[in-house]
Amino acid sequence: MPKEEGSLTLQKMFIDGEWINAQSGETREIINPFNQEVIATAVEGDRNDAKKAIEAARRAFDEGSWAQTPASERGELVQKIADLIRRDQEELAKLETLDTGKTIEESRADMADIANVFQYFAGLADKDAGEVIASPILDSESRVVREPVGVCSQITPWNYPLLQAAWKIAPALATGNTIIMKPSEITPLTTVKVFELMEEAGVPKGVANLVLGAGSTVGAEMSESHLVDLVSFTGGIETGKKIMQAASGNVKKIALELGGKNPNIVFADADFETAVDQALNAVYFHAGQVCSAGSRLLVEESIHDKFVEALVERAKRIRLGNGFDDATESGPLISAEHRDKVESYIKIGQDEGATLAVGGKRPEASELKDGFFLEPTIFTGCTSDMRVVQEEVFGPVLTVETFKTADEAVQKANDTIYGLAGAVWSNDISKAEDAAAKLRMGTVWINDFHPYFAQAPWGGFKQSGFGRELGKIGFEEYTEAKHIFRNKKPAPVNWFNS
Ligand code: NAD
Repeated sequence: MPKEEGSLTLQKMFIDGEWINAQSGETREIINPFNQEVIATAVEGDRNDAKKAIEAARRAFDEGSWAQTPASERGELVQKIADLIRRDQEELAKLETLDTGKTIEESRADMADIANVFQYFAGLADKDAGEVIASPILDSESRVVREPVGVCSQITPWNYPLLQAAWKIAPALATGNTIIMKPSEITPLTTVKVFELMEEAGVPKGVANLVLGAGSTVGAEMSESHLVDLVSFTGGIETGKKIMQAASGNVKKIALELGGKNPNIVFADADFETAVDQALNAVYFHAGQVCSAGSRLLVEESIHDKFVEALVERAKRIRLGNGFDDATESGPLISAEHRDKVESYIKIGQDEGATLAVGGKRPEASELKDGFFLEPTIFTGCTSDMRVVQEEVFGPVLTVETFKTADEAVQKANDTIYGLAGAVWSNDISKAEDAAAKLRMGTVWINDFHPYFAQAPWGGFKQSGFGRELGKIGFEEYTEAKHIFRNKKPAPVNWFNS
Protein backbone atom coordinates (compact mmCIF):
# COMPACT_ATOMS: atom_id res chain seq x y z
CA MET A 1 0.00 0.00 0.00
CA PRO A 2 1.52 3.39 -0.91
CA LYS A 3 2.55 5.47 2.06
CA GLU A 4 -0.17 8.06 1.67
CA GLU A 5 -2.69 5.22 2.14
CA GLY A 6 -0.95 3.65 5.15
CA SER A 7 2.48 2.31 6.04
CA LEU A 8 3.99 -0.53 4.12
CA THR A 9 4.58 -3.62 6.21
CA LEU A 10 7.96 -5.35 6.36
CA GLN A 11 8.74 -6.71 2.90
CA LYS A 12 9.54 -10.40 3.29
CA MET A 13 10.94 -13.18 1.14
CA PHE A 14 8.74 -15.98 -0.18
CA ILE A 15 10.52 -19.31 0.04
CA ASP A 16 8.94 -22.76 -0.26
CA GLY A 17 5.47 -21.27 0.11
CA GLU A 18 6.25 -19.27 3.29
CA TRP A 19 6.77 -15.53 3.90
CA ILE A 20 9.99 -15.35 5.90
CA ASN A 21 12.61 -13.04 7.39
CA ALA A 22 16.29 -13.23 6.52
CA GLN A 23 18.12 -15.91 8.49
CA SER A 24 20.60 -13.23 9.56
CA GLY A 25 17.81 -10.92 10.77
CA GLU A 26 19.20 -8.10 8.57
CA THR A 27 16.95 -5.52 6.92
CA ARG A 28 17.35 -2.67 4.41
CA GLU A 29 15.52 0.64 4.10
CA ILE A 30 13.81 1.35 0.79
CA ILE A 31 14.02 4.99 -0.25
CA ASN A 32 11.74 7.18 -2.36
CA PRO A 33 14.11 8.85 -4.88
CA PHE A 34 11.86 11.91 -5.09
CA ASN A 35 12.42 12.98 -1.46
CA GLN A 36 14.69 10.36 0.16
CA GLU A 37 11.95 9.33 2.59
CA VAL A 38 12.04 5.76 3.84
CA ILE A 39 8.99 4.13 2.27
CA ALA A 40 9.49 0.56 3.46
CA THR A 41 11.83 -1.84 5.17
CA ALA A 42 12.78 -5.02 3.37
CA VAL A 43 14.41 -8.10 4.82
CA GLU A 44 17.94 -8.48 3.52
CA GLY A 45 18.74 -12.05 2.57
CA ASP A 46 22.19 -13.49 1.97
CA ARG A 47 23.71 -16.63 0.50
CA ASN A 48 22.01 -18.87 3.09
CA ASP A 49 18.55 -17.60 2.14
CA ALA A 50 19.37 -17.98 -1.54
CA LYS A 51 20.48 -21.58 -0.92
CA LYS A 52 17.24 -22.34 0.88
CA ALA A 53 15.22 -20.94 -2.03
CA ILE A 54 17.28 -22.82 -4.61
CA GLU A 55 16.82 -26.09 -2.72
CA ALA A 56 13.06 -25.48 -2.54
CA ALA A 57 12.89 -24.81 -6.28
CA ARG A 58 14.99 -27.92 -6.99
CA ARG A 59 12.71 -30.10 -4.83
CA ALA A 60 9.59 -28.66 -6.44
CA PHE A 61 10.99 -29.40 -9.89
CA ASP A 62 12.37 -32.89 -9.19
CA GLU A 63 9.77 -34.20 -6.77
CA GLY A 64 6.73 -32.01 -7.37
CA SER A 65 4.21 -32.29 -10.19
CA TRP A 66 4.56 -28.80 -11.72
CA ALA A 67 6.67 -29.83 -14.71
CA GLN A 68 4.19 -32.62 -15.52
CA THR A 69 1.06 -30.52 -14.93
CA PRO A 70 -0.93 -30.32 -18.18
CA ALA A 71 0.18 -27.23 -20.07
CA SER A 72 -3.40 -25.95 -20.28
CA GLU A 73 -3.61 -25.93 -16.45
CA ARG A 74 -0.34 -24.05 -16.18
CA GLY A 75 -1.71 -21.59 -18.73
CA GLU A 76 -4.87 -21.11 -16.64
CA LEU A 77 -2.79 -20.31 -13.57
CA VAL A 78 -0.63 -17.79 -15.44
CA GLN A 79 -3.83 -16.21 -16.80
CA LYS A 80 -5.14 -15.95 -13.21
CA ILE A 81 -2.01 -14.00 -12.29
CA ALA A 82 -2.69 -11.65 -15.23
CA ASP A 83 -6.25 -11.13 -13.95
CA LEU A 84 -5.06 -10.39 -10.40
CA ILE A 85 -2.49 -7.90 -11.69
CA ARG A 86 -5.29 -6.13 -13.59
CA ARG A 87 -7.45 -6.14 -10.45
CA ASP A 88 -4.65 -4.50 -8.39
CA GLN A 89 -3.01 -2.45 -11.15
CA GLU A 90 -3.57 0.93 -9.49
CA GLU A 91 -1.95 -0.20 -6.23
CA LEU A 92 0.94 -1.74 -8.18
CA ALA A 93 1.42 1.45 -10.23
CA LYS A 94 1.57 3.55 -7.05
CA LEU A 95 4.14 1.23 -5.52
CA GLU A 96 6.29 1.42 -8.66
CA THR A 97 6.19 5.21 -8.68
CA LEU A 98 7.04 5.39 -4.97
CA ASP A 99 9.98 3.06 -5.45
CA THR A 100 11.43 4.39 -8.73
CA GLY A 101 10.24 8.00 -8.98
CA LYS A 102 8.82 7.44 -12.48
CA THR A 103 5.58 9.20 -13.32
CA ILE A 104 2.35 7.50 -12.32
CA GLU A 105 1.27 7.58 -15.96
CA GLU A 106 4.36 5.55 -16.89
CA SER A 107 3.79 3.12 -14.05
CA ARG A 108 0.18 2.62 -15.14
CA ALA A 109 1.36 1.87 -18.68
CA ASP A 110 3.92 -0.58 -17.27
CA MET A 111 1.23 -2.43 -15.30
CA ALA A 112 -0.99 -2.75 -18.38
CA ASP A 113 1.99 -4.18 -20.30
CA ILE A 114 2.79 -6.56 -17.45
CA ALA A 115 -0.72 -8.00 -17.36
CA ASN A 116 -0.53 -8.42 -21.16
CA VAL A 117 2.76 -10.31 -20.84
CA PHE A 118 1.23 -12.81 -18.38
CA GLN A 119 -1.80 -13.17 -20.63
CA TYR A 120 0.33 -13.70 -23.74
CA PHE A 121 2.44 -16.46 -22.16
CA ALA A 122 -0.66 -18.02 -20.60
CA GLY A 123 -2.03 -18.31 -24.13
CA LEU A 124 1.15 -19.87 -25.48
CA ALA A 125 1.36 -22.48 -22.70
CA ASP A 126 -0.63 -25.22 -24.44
CA LYS A 127 -0.02 -24.32 -28.08
CA ASP A 128 3.13 -26.34 -28.65
CA ALA A 129 2.29 -30.01 -29.18
CA GLY A 130 5.78 -30.86 -30.37
CA GLU A 131 6.75 -31.68 -33.92
CA VAL A 132 6.82 -34.95 -35.82
CA ILE A 133 9.84 -35.05 -38.09
CA ALA A 134 10.45 -37.15 -41.18
CA SER A 135 12.75 -39.89 -39.97
CA PRO A 136 15.20 -41.08 -42.64
CA ILE A 137 15.23 -44.52 -40.98
CA LEU A 138 12.72 -47.12 -42.13
CA ASP A 139 10.04 -48.31 -39.67
CA SER A 140 10.68 -45.59 -37.14
CA GLU A 141 8.97 -42.57 -35.68
CA SER A 142 10.75 -39.40 -34.73
CA ARG A 143 9.44 -36.38 -32.87
CA VAL A 144 10.73 -33.31 -31.05
CA VAL A 145 9.09 -32.23 -27.81
CA ARG A 146 9.74 -29.21 -25.63
CA GLU A 147 10.36 -29.68 -21.90
CA PRO A 148 11.08 -27.19 -19.11
CA VAL A 149 14.76 -26.38 -18.53
CA GLY A 150 14.42 -26.93 -14.77
CA VAL A 151 15.36 -24.58 -11.95
CA CYS A 152 15.72 -20.98 -13.15
CA SER A 153 17.43 -18.09 -11.35
CA GLN A 154 16.02 -14.73 -12.41
CA ILE A 155 17.77 -11.46 -11.55
CA THR A 156 16.31 -8.04 -12.39
CA PRO A 157 17.37 -4.34 -12.35
CA TRP A 158 15.78 -1.25 -10.78
CA ASN A 159 14.67 0.72 -13.83
CA TYR A 160 11.64 -1.40 -14.78
CA PRO A 161 11.36 -3.53 -11.65
CA LEU A 162 8.13 -5.39 -12.30
CA LEU A 163 8.20 -5.28 -16.09
CA GLN A 164 11.55 -7.05 -16.23
CA ALA A 165 10.38 -9.57 -13.62
CA ALA A 166 7.21 -10.29 -15.62
CA TRP A 167 9.20 -10.99 -18.80
CA LYS A 168 10.97 -13.77 -16.86
CA ILE A 169 8.33 -15.14 -14.47
CA ALA A 170 5.49 -15.58 -16.99
CA PRO A 171 7.29 -17.69 -19.64
CA ALA A 172 9.16 -19.72 -17.00
CA LEU A 173 5.95 -20.75 -15.22
CA ALA A 174 3.99 -21.29 -18.44
CA THR A 175 6.63 -23.79 -19.60
CA GLY A 176 6.78 -25.73 -16.28
CA ASN A 177 10.00 -24.47 -14.71
CA THR A 178 10.51 -23.58 -11.05
CA ILE A 179 12.03 -20.19 -10.24
CA ILE A 180 14.05 -18.14 -7.79
CA MET A 181 13.52 -14.43 -8.40
CA LYS A 182 15.78 -11.68 -7.06
CA PRO A 183 14.66 -8.12 -7.74
CA SER A 184 17.08 -5.22 -7.42
CA GLU A 185 17.66 -4.67 -3.71
CA ILE A 186 16.64 -1.01 -4.05
CA THR A 187 13.29 -1.58 -5.82
CA PRO A 188 11.65 -4.77 -4.48
CA LEU A 189 8.12 -3.48 -3.72
CA THR A 190 6.11 -4.46 -6.79
CA THR A 191 7.82 -7.83 -7.12
CA VAL A 192 6.92 -8.67 -3.51
CA LYS A 193 3.32 -7.67 -4.24
CA VAL A 194 3.16 -9.86 -7.35
CA PHE A 195 4.42 -12.83 -5.35
CA GLU A 196 1.46 -12.23 -3.02
CA LEU A 197 -0.77 -12.36 -6.08
CA MET A 198 0.94 -15.53 -7.29
CA GLU A 199 0.26 -17.11 -3.89
CA GLU A 200 -3.38 -16.02 -4.18
CA ALA A 201 -3.55 -17.52 -7.69
CA GLY A 202 -2.43 -20.86 -6.23
CA VAL A 203 1.12 -21.33 -7.53
CA PRO A 204 2.24 -24.60 -5.86
CA LYS A 205 4.69 -24.55 -2.95
CA GLY A 206 8.32 -24.20 -3.99
CA VAL A 207 7.52 -23.45 -7.64
CA ALA A 208 8.07 -19.68 -7.32
CA ASN A 209 10.52 -18.36 -4.72
CA LEU A 210 11.49 -14.77 -3.97
CA VAL A 211 14.78 -13.80 -2.34
CA LEU A 212 15.55 -10.20 -1.38
CA GLY A 213 19.10 -8.95 -0.98
CA ALA A 214 22.26 -7.79 -2.67
CA GLY A 215 23.68 -8.99 -5.95
CA SER A 216 27.10 -9.78 -4.53
CA THR A 217 25.58 -12.32 -2.10
CA VAL A 218 22.12 -13.52 -3.17
CA GLY A 219 22.70 -12.91 -6.89
CA ALA A 220 26.12 -14.55 -6.80
CA GLU A 221 24.74 -17.70 -5.11
CA MET A 222 21.90 -17.87 -7.64
CA SER A 223 24.44 -17.67 -10.49
CA GLU A 224 26.97 -20.11 -9.05
CA SER A 225 24.77 -22.84 -7.56
CA HIS A 226 25.07 -26.22 -9.23
CA LEU A 227 21.42 -26.90 -8.38
CA VAL A 228 20.35 -24.24 -10.88
CA ASP A 229 19.88 -25.03 -14.60
CA LEU A 230 19.43 -21.56 -16.08
CA VAL A 231 20.13 -17.99 -15.05
CA SER A 232 18.30 -15.16 -16.75
CA PHE A 233 19.75 -11.75 -15.98
CA THR A 234 18.81 -8.18 -16.88
CA GLY A 235 21.23 -5.49 -15.81
CA GLY A 236 24.59 -3.90 -16.49
CA ILE A 237 27.34 -5.31 -18.68
CA GLU A 238 29.93 -5.71 -15.90
CA THR A 239 27.49 -7.70 -13.76
CA GLY A 240 26.60 -9.74 -16.84
CA LYS A 241 30.23 -10.74 -17.28
CA LYS A 242 30.46 -11.83 -13.63
CA ILE A 243 27.31 -13.91 -14.01
CA MET A 244 28.67 -15.58 -17.14
CA GLN A 245 31.75 -16.65 -15.21
CA ALA A 246 29.80 -17.74 -12.15
CA ALA A 247 27.42 -19.78 -14.30
CA SER A 248 30.21 -21.72 -15.97
CA GLY A 249 30.77 -24.01 -12.93
CA ASN A 250 27.98 -26.36 -13.97
CA VAL A 251 27.63 -25.05 -17.55
CA LYS A 252 24.18 -23.67 -16.80
CA LYS A 253 22.29 -21.93 -19.55
CA ILE A 254 22.35 -18.15 -19.48
CA ALA A 255 20.34 -15.35 -20.95
CA LEU A 256 21.76 -11.84 -20.62
CA GLU A 257 19.81 -8.65 -21.28
CA LEU A 258 22.43 -5.95 -20.87
CA GLY A 259 22.82 -2.28 -21.67
CA GLY A 260 22.66 -0.22 -24.82
CA LYS A 261 23.89 2.97 -26.48
CA ASN A 262 21.07 3.27 -28.89
CA PRO A 263 21.34 5.40 -32.03
CA ASN A 264 18.47 7.50 -33.27
CA ILE A 265 19.14 8.34 -36.94
CA VAL A 266 17.25 11.30 -38.41
CA PHE A 267 17.44 11.92 -42.16
CA ALA A 268 16.70 15.39 -43.54
CA ASP A 269 13.56 14.13 -45.27
CA ALA A 270 11.93 12.92 -42.02
CA ASP A 271 8.85 14.67 -40.69
CA PHE A 272 10.62 17.38 -38.70
CA GLU A 273 8.18 18.01 -35.83
CA THR A 274 7.56 14.32 -35.23
CA ALA A 275 11.27 13.48 -35.26
CA VAL A 276 12.05 16.26 -32.76
CA ASP A 277 9.20 15.25 -30.48
CA GLN A 278 10.15 11.57 -30.57
CA ALA A 279 13.86 12.28 -30.13
CA LEU A 280 12.95 13.84 -26.78
CA ASN A 281 10.79 10.89 -25.88
CA ALA A 282 13.51 8.49 -26.98
CA VAL A 283 16.11 9.83 -24.57
CA TYR A 284 14.27 11.47 -21.67
CA PHE A 285 11.61 8.85 -20.96
CA HIS A 286 12.11 7.73 -17.30
CA ALA A 287 14.95 10.28 -17.04
CA GLY A 288 16.97 8.29 -19.58
CA GLN A 289 17.12 5.23 -17.32
CA VAL A 290 15.97 2.90 -20.09
CA CYS A 291 18.16 0.20 -21.63
CA SER A 292 16.87 1.16 -25.07
CA ALA A 293 17.04 4.95 -24.53
CA GLY A 294 17.82 6.84 -27.74
CA SER A 295 20.80 8.55 -26.14
CA ARG A 296 22.82 8.91 -29.34
CA LEU A 297 21.26 11.23 -31.93
CA LEU A 298 22.67 11.08 -35.45
CA VAL A 299 21.18 13.89 -37.49
CA GLU A 300 21.77 14.67 -41.16
CA GLU A 301 24.11 17.66 -41.38
CA SER A 302 21.78 19.85 -43.46
CA ILE A 303 19.11 19.98 -40.70
CA HIS A 304 21.43 19.79 -37.68
CA ASP A 305 21.22 23.41 -36.50
CA LYS A 306 17.47 23.71 -36.85
CA PHE A 307 16.94 20.29 -35.22
CA VAL A 308 19.18 21.01 -32.23
CA GLU A 309 17.62 24.42 -31.73
CA ALA A 310 14.15 22.87 -31.55
CA LEU A 311 15.35 20.09 -29.25
CA VAL A 312 17.06 22.44 -26.83
CA GLU A 313 13.97 24.62 -26.68
CA ARG A 314 11.79 21.61 -25.83
CA ALA A 315 14.31 20.03 -23.42
CA LYS A 316 14.39 23.24 -21.35
CA ARG A 317 10.64 23.01 -20.85
CA ILE A 318 10.49 19.41 -19.54
CA ARG A 319 8.76 19.56 -16.16
CA LEU A 320 10.65 17.67 -13.48
CA GLY A 321 8.83 16.74 -10.30
CA ASN A 322 7.01 14.27 -8.11
CA GLY A 323 5.87 11.27 -10.14
CA PHE A 324 2.46 11.45 -8.43
CA ASP A 325 1.87 15.00 -9.69
CA ASP A 326 -0.05 15.02 -12.98
CA ALA A 327 1.98 17.99 -14.23
CA THR A 328 5.28 16.08 -13.90
CA GLU A 329 6.83 14.89 -17.15
CA SER A 330 9.97 13.32 -15.70
CA GLY A 331 10.99 12.09 -12.26
CA PRO A 332 14.36 11.87 -10.50
CA LEU A 333 17.20 9.44 -11.03
CA ILE A 334 17.10 6.34 -8.88
CA SER A 335 19.77 7.15 -6.28
CA ALA A 336 22.46 9.58 -5.19
CA GLU A 337 25.09 7.10 -6.34
CA HIS A 338 23.56 6.80 -9.78
CA ARG A 339 23.24 10.57 -10.17
CA ASP A 340 26.93 10.88 -9.28
CA LYS A 341 27.73 8.43 -12.07
CA VAL A 342 25.66 10.38 -14.62
CA GLU A 343 27.27 13.66 -13.50
CA SER A 344 30.71 12.11 -13.94
CA TYR A 345 29.79 11.43 -17.59
CA ILE A 346 28.70 15.05 -18.02
CA LYS A 347 32.14 16.07 -16.84
CA ILE A 348 33.76 13.51 -19.16
CA GLY A 349 31.80 14.94 -22.12
CA GLN A 350 32.94 18.47 -21.31
CA ASP A 351 36.55 17.37 -20.86
CA GLU A 352 36.40 15.57 -24.20
CA GLY A 353 35.38 18.82 -25.91
CA ALA A 354 31.65 18.27 -26.50
CA THR A 355 29.53 21.43 -26.28
CA LEU A 356 26.94 21.57 -23.51
CA ALA A 357 23.90 22.99 -25.30
CA VAL A 358 21.48 22.68 -22.36
CA GLY A 359 21.29 21.19 -18.86
CA GLY A 360 24.26 19.48 -17.29
CA LYS A 361 23.36 20.41 -13.72
CA ARG A 362 20.93 19.81 -10.87
CA PRO A 363 17.71 21.88 -11.01
CA GLU A 364 17.57 24.84 -8.64
CA ALA A 365 13.88 24.66 -7.64
CA SER A 366 13.61 24.19 -3.88
CA GLU A 367 10.88 21.54 -4.16
CA LEU A 368 13.30 19.31 -6.09
CA LYS A 369 16.27 19.66 -3.77
CA ASP A 370 15.72 16.41 -1.85
CA GLY A 371 15.27 14.31 -5.00
CA PHE A 372 18.02 12.91 -7.19
CA PHE A 373 17.19 15.21 -10.10
CA LEU A 374 19.30 16.25 -13.07
CA GLU A 375 18.31 18.62 -15.86
CA PRO A 376 17.74 17.17 -19.33
CA THR A 377 21.12 17.57 -20.99
CA ILE A 378 22.25 17.84 -24.63
CA PHE A 379 25.81 17.69 -25.92
CA THR A 380 26.49 18.86 -29.48
CA GLY A 381 29.70 18.64 -31.49
CA CYS A 382 30.16 15.02 -30.46
CA THR A 383 32.36 12.52 -32.26
CA SER A 384 32.27 8.73 -32.24
CA ASP A 385 35.52 8.39 -30.33
CA MET A 386 34.21 10.16 -27.20
CA ARG A 387 33.45 8.10 -24.13
CA VAL A 388 30.20 10.00 -23.61
CA VAL A 389 29.15 8.75 -27.06
CA GLN A 390 30.40 5.18 -26.61
CA GLU A 391 29.43 4.29 -23.04
CA GLU A 392 26.02 3.80 -21.48
CA VAL A 393 25.28 6.86 -19.30
CA PHE A 394 21.78 5.74 -18.26
CA GLY A 395 20.56 9.23 -17.50
CA PRO A 396 19.00 12.27 -19.22
CA VAL A 397 22.00 12.93 -21.46
CA LEU A 398 21.79 13.14 -25.25
CA THR A 399 24.82 13.30 -27.53
CA VAL A 400 24.43 14.73 -31.04
CA GLU A 401 26.56 13.80 -34.06
CA THR A 402 26.05 14.57 -37.73
CA PHE A 403 26.30 12.56 -40.95
CA LYS A 404 26.27 13.34 -44.66
CA THR A 405 25.34 9.99 -46.23
CA ALA A 406 23.24 6.98 -45.25
CA ASP A 407 26.35 4.79 -45.19
CA GLU A 408 28.06 7.15 -42.77
CA ALA A 409 24.96 7.16 -40.53
CA VAL A 410 24.87 3.37 -40.39
CA GLN A 411 28.60 3.07 -39.86
CA LYS A 412 28.48 5.50 -36.91
CA ALA A 413 25.32 3.92 -35.49
CA ASN A 414 26.99 0.50 -35.45
CA ASP A 415 30.20 1.82 -33.95
CA THR A 416 29.73 0.86 -30.28
CA ILE A 417 30.11 -2.40 -28.39
CA TYR A 418 26.32 -2.47 -27.93
CA GLY A 419 23.53 -3.67 -30.20
CA LEU A 420 20.25 -3.42 -28.33
CA ALA A 421 18.00 -1.06 -30.30
CA GLY A 422 17.98 1.86 -32.71
CA ALA A 423 15.70 3.94 -34.90
CA VAL A 424 15.66 5.44 -38.39
CA TRP A 425 13.56 8.45 -39.39
CA SER A 426 12.90 9.10 -43.08
CA ASN A 427 9.99 9.52 -45.46
CA ASP A 428 11.93 7.54 -48.07
CA ILE A 429 10.92 4.04 -47.04
CA SER A 430 13.50 2.22 -49.14
CA LYS A 431 16.27 4.35 -47.61
CA ALA A 432 14.92 3.65 -44.11
CA GLU A 433 14.54 -0.07 -44.78
CA ASP A 434 18.05 -0.25 -46.22
CA ALA A 435 19.51 1.38 -43.09
CA ALA A 436 17.38 -0.85 -40.83
CA ALA A 437 18.74 -3.93 -42.59
CA LYS A 438 22.31 -2.83 -41.91
CA LEU A 439 21.92 -1.93 -38.23
CA ARG A 440 23.39 -4.60 -35.93
CA MET A 441 20.70 -4.43 -33.26
CA GLY A 442 18.04 -6.66 -31.74
CA THR A 443 15.28 -4.11 -32.39
CA VAL A 444 15.07 -1.45 -35.10
CA TRP A 445 12.23 1.04 -35.27
CA ILE A 446 11.36 2.88 -38.48
CA ASN A 447 9.66 6.24 -37.93
CA ASP A 448 9.04 5.46 -34.28
CA PHE A 449 10.94 4.93 -31.05
CA HIS A 450 10.33 2.59 -28.08
CA PRO A 451 7.42 0.34 -29.06
CA TYR A 452 7.78 -3.14 -27.63
CA PHE A 453 5.11 -5.70 -26.86
CA ALA A 454 4.70 -9.23 -25.62
CA GLN A 455 4.38 -10.71 -29.12
CA ALA A 456 7.80 -9.56 -30.42
CA PRO A 457 11.19 -10.76 -29.15
CA TRP A 458 13.45 -8.40 -27.20
CA GLY A 459 17.21 -8.70 -26.77
CA GLY A 460 20.59 -7.61 -27.94
CA PHE A 461 23.26 -8.17 -30.56
CA LYS A 462 26.93 -7.83 -29.61
CA GLN A 463 27.62 -6.92 -25.98
CA SER A 464 24.00 -6.04 -25.29
CA GLY A 465 23.71 -9.72 -24.46
CA PHE A 466 22.23 -12.89 -25.84
CA GLY A 467 19.02 -14.82 -25.57
CA ARG A 468 15.64 -13.25 -26.17
CA GLU A 469 12.71 -12.35 -23.96
CA LEU A 470 9.07 -12.01 -25.06
CA GLY A 471 7.58 -13.48 -28.20
CA LYS A 472 7.65 -17.15 -29.14
CA ILE A 473 11.45 -17.12 -28.90
CA GLY A 474 11.23 -15.85 -25.31
CA PHE A 475 8.93 -18.78 -24.53
CA GLU A 476 11.30 -21.31 -26.09
CA GLU A 477 14.24 -19.93 -24.05
CA TYR A 478 12.68 -21.65 -21.04
CA THR A 479 12.46 -25.02 -22.79
CA GLU A 480 14.83 -27.77 -23.85
CA ALA A 481 14.20 -29.53 -27.17
CA LYS A 482 14.12 -33.29 -26.78
CA HIS A 483 14.24 -35.69 -29.73
CA ILE A 484 12.38 -38.96 -29.16
CA PHE A 485 13.08 -41.71 -31.67
CA ARG A 486 11.13 -44.98 -31.72
CA ASN A 487 12.08 -48.06 -33.66
CA LYS A 488 8.82 -49.75 -34.68
CA LYS A 489 10.44 -53.08 -35.60
CA PRO A 490 13.36 -53.68 -33.21
CA ALA A 491 15.73 -56.46 -34.38
CA PRO A 492 19.41 -57.36 -33.85
CA VAL A 493 21.81 -55.33 -35.95
CA ASN A 494 24.56 -57.98 -35.83
CA TRP A 495 27.30 -55.38 -35.99
CA PHE A 496 29.32 -57.45 -33.55
CA ASN A 497 28.62 -60.97 -34.62
CA SER A 498 31.48 -62.98 -33.18
P1 NAD B 1 23.13 -4.07 -12.14
O1 NAD B 1 23.89 -4.94 -13.07
O2 NAD B 1 23.87 -3.24 -11.16
O3 NAD B 1 22.12 -4.93 -11.25
C1 NAD B 1 21.13 -5.76 -11.84
C2 NAD B 1 20.80 -6.88 -10.87
O4 NAD B 1 21.95 -7.71 -10.72
C3 NAD B 1 20.41 -6.42 -9.47
O5 NAD B 1 19.38 -7.24 -8.99
C4 NAD B 1 21.69 -6.65 -8.68
O6 NAD B 1 21.49 -6.85 -7.31
C5 NAD B 1 22.22 -7.91 -9.35
N1 NAD B 1 23.66 -8.15 -9.18
C6 NAD B 1 24.64 -7.25 -8.93
N2 NAD B 1 25.84 -7.88 -8.82
C7 NAD B 1 25.62 -9.20 -9.01
C8 NAD B 1 26.44 -10.36 -9.04
N3 NAD B 1 27.75 -10.30 -8.84
N4 NAD B 1 25.87 -11.56 -9.28
C9 NAD B 1 24.55 -11.65 -9.51
N5 NAD B 1 23.70 -10.60 -9.49
C10 NAD B 1 24.23 -9.38 -9.25
O7 NAD B 1 22.17 -3.20 -13.05
P2 NAD B 1 21.21 -2.02 -12.59
O8 NAD B 1 22.04 -0.83 -12.27
O9 NAD B 1 20.24 -2.53 -11.58
O10 NAD B 1 20.37 -1.79 -13.94
C11 NAD B 1 20.77 -0.95 -14.96
C12 NAD B 1 21.31 -1.76 -16.12
O11 NAD B 1 20.34 -2.69 -16.58
C13 NAD B 1 21.64 -0.90 -17.33
O12 NAD B 1 22.89 -1.26 -17.87
C14 NAD B 1 20.54 -1.23 -18.32
O13 NAD B 1 20.86 -1.01 -19.67
C15 NAD B 1 20.28 -2.67 -18.02
N6 NAD B 1 18.96 -3.08 -18.49
C16 NAD B 1 18.88 -3.84 -19.62
C17 NAD B 1 17.62 -4.20 -20.13
C18 NAD B 1 17.48 -5.04 -21.39
O14 NAD B 1 16.38 -5.45 -21.68
N7 NAD B 1 18.54 -5.29 -22.12
C19 NAD B 1 16.47 -3.79 -19.46
C20 NAD B 1 16.59 -3.01 -18.31
C21 NAD B 1 17.85 -2.67 -17.82
